[in-house]
Amino acid sequence: METAYIGIGSNIGHKIDNCKMAISLMGRLAGCSVRLQSPFYRTEPVGVEGQDTFVNGVVSLDTVLSAVTLLKHLLKIETDMGRVRRKKWDARIIDLDILLFGAHIINEPHLIVPHPLMQLRRFVLKPLSQIAPDVVHPVLRRSIRELAGVLSEDGQAVEIYERS
Ligand code: ADP
Ligand code: MG
Repeated sequence: METAYIGIGSNIGHKIDNCKMAISLMGRLAGCSVRLQSPFYRTEPVGVEGQDTFVNGVVSLDTVLSAVTLLKHLLKIETDMGRVRRKKWDARIIDLDILLFGAHIINEPHLIVPHPLMQLRRFVLKPLSQIAPDVVHPVLRRSIRELAGVLSEDGQAVEIYERS
């Protein structure tokens, strides 16, 4: 059994309902249970022009699945919820990313864990630090609280949207 942390984001449609739907579908996966859920945050898009704001959150999942199998299920939830992949960083109904998978370090063609950009993203570290402040990033060897603390408060706005 491993504890995985999943980053959730939506910037199309009823974003908060999309995030809640994804959490409920993750909870129904065989071999997975949702343990902790962060509050939801309203965040400005980064890296792209002209997109709507995002709703972001993080959950922890206890799972007996392998990371690769879990990713497969998460991608299927994205597709089932109507996500169409056009180009990288396109607007999306739902995005589910594996941020951490226990202390595993995975470098496969279709799966990199810890998620390579998580330490740069306040929309990940803010919610993650609410549910996993003392979890240590296995590559950087810093706690989530420490990683969140060194990220500048400038730039992207990340504001509380709804407490779960
Ligand atoms: P992004 O999340 O970067 O905006 P996508 O959601 O379109 O991009 O993901 C594209 C691919 O990223 C997925 O098909 C998956 O194979 C790959 N990927 C690599 N590492 C991860 C990870 N840790 N979590 C989720 N997807 C990942
Ligand atoms: Mg993704």
